[in-house]
Amino acid sequence: MGNTFTHKKVIMFDLDGTLATSKNPPDIEMTDLMTALLEHHFVGIISGGMYSQLHDQFVSHLSADTQFEHLSILPTSGGSLYQYVHGQWAEKYSSILSPEQKTHIMDALHQALDQAYYVTPETTYGDIIEDRDSQISFSGLGQHAPLTLKETWDPEKTLRLRIINILKESLPDFDCKIGGSTTIDITLKGINKAYGIKKLSESLNIPIIDMLYIGDELEENGNDFVAISSGIATHAVDNPEETKEVIREILKESV
Ligand SMILES: [Mg+2]
Repeated sequence: MGNTFTHKKVIMFDLDGTLATSKNPPDIEMTDLMTALLEHHFVGIISGGMYSQLHDQFVSHLSADTQFEHLSILPTSGGSLYQYVHGQWAEKYSSILSPEQKTHIMDALHQALDQAYYVTPETTYGDIIEDRDSQISFSGLGQHAPLTLKETWDPEKTLRLRIINILKESLPDFDCKIGGSTTIDITLKGINKAYGIKKLSESLNIPIIDMLYIGDELEENGNDFVAISSGIATHAVDNPEETKEVIREILKESV
């Protein structure tokens, strides 16, 4: 009984496509549900974005009476972990890349983009390559491209998988993986959502068996797929509306 998905102590969420549409704030229904969930559960939000992005896009929209002490933020797919201590967000750990590692990654990335015949689009939206400290991210159209454009850019992931195959040769000591809808994320080896899940489990001192992961890309080659390897129970959703349904189910069981 105690371990159906509605009885987990820690609920982890992917951000884009799960709690909100890509790079957009959550709606009021979602923030209300999250505030209610945080009353009796620990929650972790894990995404390829930087801390500032996760905070501004989602956490800053939660109402002031939210129990932030129960919330953990895991930017750059677990590359770091933030928790709310004494009224402010504090970094619990961070696996940042050294300047030399960053240069090495940038060089390899530029080379791989050429070899994979990536052509910079005429119009781009923000940086194509972004330094996120614990991660270097490539976004085919730029970080801030409109969702409608992103969805048609590399829908089958063909180009990104080609780039990643080249990077796996040139960057054997790093992890290169598909991030958001147009993104490739490069981190230190072993940093991924499964790592973030293990770190949160350790930090809260709650075993993974008591945790649930909710994401919109749990299929193979999806950016939530690696989470499964941690042994965590998972629940796939197609969009934030489905996530709301899952949260409502959990809340119903916890009264
Ligand atoms: Mg997602």
